[in-house]
Amino acid sequence: MRLGIGSAFIVAVGAWLLPYGLDSYAIHVVNVMLVFALLAVGLGLCMGVGGQVNLAQIAFFGVGAYATAILTTHSGFGFWVSAVLAVLATAATGLLVGTPALRVQSHYLGIVTLGLALAFTNWVTNAQIAGGAEGISNIPVPTIPGVDLSSEYLYYYLILIVFAFMLVFGLFVVRTALGRRMRAMRDDALAAGALGADVPVLRMTAFLLASVYGGVGGVLYAGLIRYVAPESFSIANMFLLLGMVIIGGRQSLIGCVAGAIGLYLVRELLVDHPTFAQIGYGSVVVLVVVFAPTGLAGLPPRLRHWIAHRRGRVGSEAARLGEFQPYSPVERADGSEADILVVDGVSKQFRGLKALDDVSLSVPSGQIRGIVGPNGSGKTTLFNVISGLYRPDAGRVRFAGDDVTNRPPYRLSRAGMSRTFQNLRLFGDLTVRENVLVALDRTRTVSSWRYLLAPLSIVRRDRDLRRRADEVLDRYGLTAFAGLPPKSLPYGTQRRVEIARAVACRPSLLLLDEPAAGLNGDEVRKLGEMVRSIRDTGITVVIIEHNMGLVMNLCERITVLASGRVIAEGTPASVAATPAVIEAYLGDSMDVPSEVNP
Ligand code: ADP
Ligand code: MG
Repeated sequence: MRLGIGSAFIVAVGAWLLPYGLDSYAIHVVNVMLVFALLAVGLGLCMGVGGQVNLAQIAFFGVGAYATAILTTHSGFGFWVSAVLAVLATAATGLLVGTPALRVQSHYLGIVTLGLALAFTNWVTNAQIAGGAEGISNIPVPTIPGVDLSSEYLYYYLILIVFAFMLVFGLFVVRTALGRRMRAMRDDALAAGALGADVPVLRMTAFLLASVYGGVGGVLYAGLIRYVAPESFSIANMFLLLGMVIIGGRQSLIGCVAGAIGLYLVRELLVDHPTFAQIGYGSVVVLVVVFAPTGLAGLPPRLRHWIAHRRGRVGSEAARLGEFQPYSPVERADGSEADILVVDGVSKQFRGLKALDDVSLSVPSGQIRGIVGPNGSGKTTLFNVISGLYRPDAGRVRFAGDDVTNRPPYRLSRAGMSRTFQNLRLFGDLTVRENVLVALDRTRTVSSWRYLLAPLSIVRRDRDLRRRADEVLDRYGLTAFAGLPPKSLPYGTQRRVEIARAVACRPSLLLLDEPAAGLNGDEVRKLGEMVRSIRDTGITVVIIEHNMGLVMNLCERITVLASGRVIAEGTPASVAATPAVIEAYLGDSMDVPSEVNP
């Protein structure tokens, strides 16, 4: 859900004037509601945008509030010094809570983070320093010269300004490189890694963001209520927060805010009916999950898509696939080039099955190498070992002169290896342009500190990336689909998007896993031209393919696998005449496999 500048301005003016119409109780409600909206935005960033289930958000909130309380009342620090320390403490907690995300995912992560949240509530209820069940009172009023923050009306403006700043920052993250990479990780962590996204750092970043929002929320809350007690950070409140994010639409931060305001108001309305309160907002959450799984924020896009569908627009997109414009070839040095890829004695076993058995091959720079073999002969497994998805049981892989055995995929991607997948792995909730943008972005996630210290450099870089993405889309004839989700495109077009995305990484070695599968004759011919042109820019291509016409035409050398072993290697003509190859395919012609294994 995009807010235009105009509507943002109206909302801002409305928010600024709001206290004039509210009594002292209502302003209190609004203040707490804004704190919850801030927490919801943080949760949305981690869970909705980054895909990391985080049920410890309420504990982050608690750490921020309690740290402020303890530091101001026990250590004699002023409010603002305590506030900074509290946010730092929460960020450290965030990194701690995020570490399980490096090992476990989805519901397991939910259980682990929930456990940590429970541990926190348990600790504050029992620890002497946290005041036990009574909590800590007498937190001093934060002071700003000339402003009396003990008035909730004026405190409102403090919360509002911090909230607005952090919301805008969150939106900035979501709409630029870091957010795109987080969304890519959410959609398909494996493909994101293969495109160079350092997934572990990215996961920690998601938790770091969530914790900072939680910590700031806690500080604001401590200064507002000036009293902290365990029940504010209970699991019931965690589920309230979760409800806010689910109702609003977890992928949209504005949606999270809308969900937070909506659900908080429902809770206020039901405050005199505690019997029904939990059931009340519980049913709201269930209704939304059933009837609008993408939340309130997901409704407008779904409506637009539905209308476009009704008008038959989606179907007609296929006609607008443009022609691929060949790259201008680069001069290649003559003579024997060094081998860019060397696979040496690689074996890989899956329980009883030897998927790869002592496989060796070398690919010289600038070659188009075909890998063929019957289904199940280990071709994809070989790619998975080369690109770092699988660890080989034995053997080494050398790439561009380095031993890269067991290197994680994102490091191989950074070193210049790029691949496509046999069963397309496009990021489904990103547009075609964003899919390409993720690949074009070659920065490391740790450089995201720039978001805080040099936001303008982020804006400039994003503009540059977008320009380059448009060039890529134009070259591959995909401009008409730039803003569409890949799933809405015909299969052949999706395959092309995946190749464009893989080449956008600027690899020196490109691995294509059955790129012609599912394409029609004309598309296969175009694919051949495309691959040749990609090679002419100096990229070495290794291509797994069942379409023998394409392989014979395109590849300079072919390696044949059968039952995990290399049974032949040579020029297309010599390989086709090798008796072992003919036998492996149980036929007398190289055409057979495409019929046997469609
Ligand atoms: P190809 O790509 O040549 O069709 P694969 O490399 O996908 O073959 O598979 C080779 C063999 O290894 C198959 O028998 C397949 O079932 C098995 N295999 C591949 N990946 C796994 C896995 N992750 N776990 C268990 N078995 C696997
Ligand atoms: Mg395969």
